[in-house]
Amino acid sequence: MRVLVVEDEVKMASLIRRGLRDEGLLADVAVTGEDALWMAAATAYDAIVLDVGLPRLDGFGTVRRLREDGVWAPVLMLTARDAIEDRVAGLDTGADDYLVKPFAMAELVARTKALLRRPGHALGVTLEAGNVALDTVGRDVRVGAAVLPLPRQELAILEHLMRRLGRVVPKAVLEEKLYGTDETPESNAVPVHVHHLRRKLAEAGATPEIHTVRGIGYLLAERPG
Ligand code: CA
Repeated sequence: MRVLVVEDEVKMASLIRRGLRDEGLLADVAVTGEDALWMAAATAYDAIVLDVGLPRLDGFGTVRRLREDGVWAPVLMLTARDAIEDRVAGLDTGADDYLVKPFAMAELVARTKALLRRPGHALGVTLEAGNVALDTVGRDVRVGAAVLPLPRQELAILEHLMRRLGRVVPKAVLEEKLYGTDETPESNAVPVHVHHLRRKLAEAGATPEIHTVRGIGYLLAERPG
């Protein structure tokens, strides 16, 4: 397991690295958000410990850029208390967990390990949402026990929504995943795929549903009740 630690204070960064290494986790340090972006592009990290207080590109900006770049490693955000209350109230920052400074190293290690155990952090996992399961290697989807055949684009959309279960995935991110940055997709391509996917999930009796967040994107969530 390899963890990227993003922290500009050198002493704090090396404390965290040592704490993780004592638990048998490899850890690399990036001292800026910009460094974190290229390091995460070059290496498949299993988790990212990200300080909010970074020069220029802060932790919130960094996690947003990571997600836009298709980096889905779980992120543990380190923050001062007042900063987090501002942001977490209703805003999807893209982080998976938060730890308020000052923290005990044992707590940071425990939270990091919890993220590493979550589905979606590594290759070869089955993502689950309600009664829907997506095998990221076999590339098949099941609703309950039944296989739900899906074309490649719909499966890719479903995978991204499942990796971000309960959170909004911007439409632009889905477009980039489907078409790469060189091609310009038809402006309605993603909505059309989502429309088909939503109908197929409903017909198959899936418990989670795809919601449209107007002007932003889509979100997969369990049906209430
Ligand atoms: Ca800092």
